[in-house]
Amino acid sequence: MDNTNKDYVINLRVSRATYEKIKHKARENSESVSTLIRKAISDSVEIIGDLSDELFQKREKFKDIIGYHRFKTAQELECAQCRSKIPAGETATVGETEKTRKYFFCKICRP
Ligand SMILES: [Zn+2]
Repeated sequence: MDNTNKDYVINLRVSRATYEKIKHKARENSESVSTLIRKAISDSVEIIGDLSDELFQKREKFKDIIGYHRFKTAQELECAQCRSKIPAGETATVGETEKTRKYFFCKICRP
């Protein structure tokens, strides 16, 4: 029998204090415990990845962008390339990645 596409569940045993803390955080964010943990792992992986890339300069900047969109800003943003402020109501470019991360670019950096 081929079980290569089957998903498996990993149960983790944690202390009551840790469980209560996680449950409290989930309630604060109106999320389920599993959603909170998924997001925490996803965010951690992204942050560790960014730090690792910067420390070891493995990856060129913005290499994880899979597409660009032009959009009108609803609030002030910072350009990911030159760090200048992009005012609200301006046309800017967003670089989307497969993850939740987005990069915003001013008109000069991505016209
Ligand atoms: Zn810029």
